Amino acid sequence: MVSAELNSDKTIYESRLTELLKETPIVDTHNDFPYILRVQLHDELHSCDFDFNGELQTHTSLPKFRKGKLGVQFFSVYIECKDYITEDGKEDFNKFNSAVRDTLEQIDVTKRLVNEYSDDMKFVNNSIEAMEAYKNGKIAVTLGVEGLHQVDLSLGVLREYFELGCRYITLTHNGDNPFATAASSIAAGLPDNGLTEYGKRCILEMNRLGMMVDLSHVSYKTMLDTLEVTQSPVIFSHSSAYHLTNHERNVRDDVLLKIKENDGVVCVNFYPAFIVPKDKSIKEVSIEDAVNHILHIVKITGSFRHVGFGSDFDGIPFGPIGLEDVSKYPDLIYKIMQAGATDQDIKGLMGGNTMRVWAKNEEISKKLIKKLGPKGIIEDNWKQRVWEFNSYSKDFPRLFENSFDIHKDSTIWKPKKDMFTKK
Ligand SMILES: [Zn+2]
Repeated sequence: MVSAELNSDKTIYESRLTELLKETPIVDTHNDFPYILRVQLHDELHSCDFDFNGELQTHTSLPKFRKGKLGVQFFSVYIECKDYITEDGKEDFNKFNSAVRDTLEQIDVTKRLVNEYSDDMKFVNNSIEAMEAYKNGKIAVTLGVEGLHQVDLSLGVLREYFELGCRYITLTHNGDNPFATAASSIAAGLPDNGLTEYGKRCILEMNRLGMMVDLSHVSYKTMLDTLEVTQSPVIFSHSSAYHLTNHERNVRDDVLLKIKENDGVVCVNFYPAFIVPKDKSIKEVSIEDAVNHILHIVKITGSFRHVGFGSDFDGIPFGPIGLEDVSKYPDLIYKIMQAGATDQDIKGLMGGNTMRVWAKNEEISKKLIKKLGPKGIIEDNWKQRVWEFNSYSKDFPRLFENSFDIHKDSTIWKPKKDMFTKK
């Protein structure tokens, strides 16, 4: 095709996209920019020349967002897996760690960023608010937590993350936790134990809350187990197609068929290592490879209903050629138009599918809360959790006779010490 024709096609695609954007936002389910703020600025936005509206070398900035026409962003409040290995080499999830503090700090810095640039962004609490913000010309921002290690054993913490505005949790990051087995364990040759019993209870609580279940990063069996248990559609916040790139982080074709049954969505990760074909090096990966992953998911599921964008920008060193940062979503959409997709297809891919899954999770949550009432809240604790208290608490009033006996096997009393006496 000569360049004049290409240009005229591009003009057609541009006006098509402008039309589609009137109803449907471009949605991305995974961007790690808050982690960049943590690592490079220790979350101190005013300690330096940082300007989100200025020239930044990151994949993400407000000018790049505007160029990329992004409408809804799920920012990841990612914190790395902690070291659960004890001195004698055993795995101990009871080991004290700072995952909850660090996650709260990431929620805080993301909200501060959004509030400071409130001419362009708005923090939203549900899918309706997201659409309202979008129609008012703002980028709607919400949050995803990247691993249940970040709730540190506790469904109470999970509920509070929901209160703070987190709208999905990935079941694992690169490491198993008391809830589920990670893809990284399988890649390392470890057994695939799937979802634990506590993990199954957690899924039900997430469904009840309306917290979307994210299956990126989990093992194959965790995917299958979760799809058996969940009452709501699930997401893959940043995963691509296993058939084209055999990486454990990607989604196999049989799982894609189950996602179709579940009416969920796989948001394609642009990281070159996850979309590289067998005959290329990751430095050669281009926007065409992202297109191929999208079209493979479409081919297996039979429609554009189960695919979206989960770029992983700023959580990866570099993007594919032609899809380098958040300003490039329109170019990806034009490529899919060029492949023959209808307006309906494009609307689903660019954001409609993710918004549908989010709204469905909210609808199911409302029904479950109404049906189950307060007694439907899942209060379970992890069975192997160690509960340690100062022994003076034994002298406090009892709820009733024998109330100290209920959990006597899992309570450890620390030696008495007088906290009111100065040394
Ligand atoms: Zn990730």
